[in-house]
Amino acid sequence: MEDSVRSSAVPSVFAQPAPGSVADRIRPFVRKYVLGIRPYVPGRPEEDVRREFGVRDVVKLASNENPLGPSPLAVEAMGRALSGLNRYPDGAAQSARGSIADRYRLTPEHVLLGNGSDEIIKMIAEAFLEAGDQVVTAFPSFSQYSFGPRIMGAEVVEVPLKGGFSFDLDGVLDRITPRTKIVYLCSPNNPTGTVFSHSEAASFIERVPEGVVTVFDEAYLEYVDAPDPLDSLAFVRAGKAVLSLRTFSKMYGLAGLRLGYALGDPGLIRYLHLVREPFNVNATAQAAVSAALSDRGHVARSREANRLGREQYYSGLARLGVEFVRTQGNFLLARVGNGRETADALERRGVIVRAGFPGLDEYVRISVGSEEENEVCLASLAEVLRR
Ligand SMILES: *Cc1c(COP(=O)(O)O)cnc(C)c1O
Repeated sequence: MEDSVRSSAVPSVFAQPAPGSVADRIRPFVRKYVLGIRPYVPGRPEEDVRREFGVRDVVKLASNENPLGPSPLAVEAMGRALSGLNRYPDGAAQSARGSIADRYRLTPEHVLLGNGSDEIIKMIAEAFLEAGDQVVTAFPSFSQYSFGPRIMGAEVVEVPLKGGFSFDLDGVLDRITPRTKIVYLCSPNNPTGTVFSHSEAASFIERVPEGVVTVFDEAYLEYVDAPDPLDSLAFVRAGKAVLSLRTFSKMYGLAGLRLGYALGDPGLIRYLHLVREPFNVNATAQAAVSAALSDRGHVARSREANRLGREQYYSGLARLGVEFVRTQGNFLLARVGNGRETADALERRGVIVRAGFPGLDEYVRISVGSEEENEVCLASLAEVLRR
């Protein structure tokens, strides 16, 4: 594991621009916190890999996307909305927020929409953090939790997961100081697929000091089948300083649409609206909300396909003698030896997985795809590991 505390002002790839270049001349005027940011590396697009390696069939299992595609009901609703795109969207997203509120028996004032929950993670940082403040999160976890804070000049304190990638919530509490404003906790955790239980979260929330906002990122909530699953809305309903983050990118199959939301006490949500762009969620996305939420069939099929896909990997990887981490998400970590080299070798065979997570050099993260895609991935992995 790396050092659990990292400086917020690490020089980035732009540390050495060519002398006299525009980058070199402008550099003194860029905020020092921004210079410390390392660019996000997304899962590689299929077209890239097709072109570089001349493989015809590319299987992308790098971004935890839904192999069943988007909710058909949502696609239909979006189709109907297209002819109205000459108009600006409803800046307050009344109808979409209403549908989400109804779903959870909350009010629209409990709901904030974002251009993906990524945007909301950044909005939380913008609303709360001054330079020098602290944010506490687990490590390894989702990289976005440090992106927003670093822009604001805050320090990100990372508390290592324990054996088997289980959460150390006591350790998180121990690292909270008077400078701590936000705690980000992700369950199921990306990239490990591990969870903490609702009782663990409840005991955490009871002990977290006043003035600290706890953000529960539940991007993979719908995939969970472990007992005592996290229900962070119970904390919201109890008036705690808690935000529940959810997204349409995973189970609902709408990653390309960019649509996520936060649920929280209206007294907390109102401050996030202050930093929200007036039209941050496009009209097509707003049109999809009600239909996507109502598409129980699509959700049920997606969950079942994912359950079978996980089993397919468990038995496939066991046959290959590859250690893996049992997951509550739609992705899993496989311990392949050298993660980077394995991912590169798979890519040459047209299978895109993810490697290079800090602290996880020996692993690749594989998203659960369709049965055929998983088969191709396992067969390619068998070839790569044989060499
Ligand atoms: C995929 C993911 C999200 C969702 O991001 P969007 O911006 O809504 O697409 C949020 N949190 C985690 C941990 C994720 O893996």
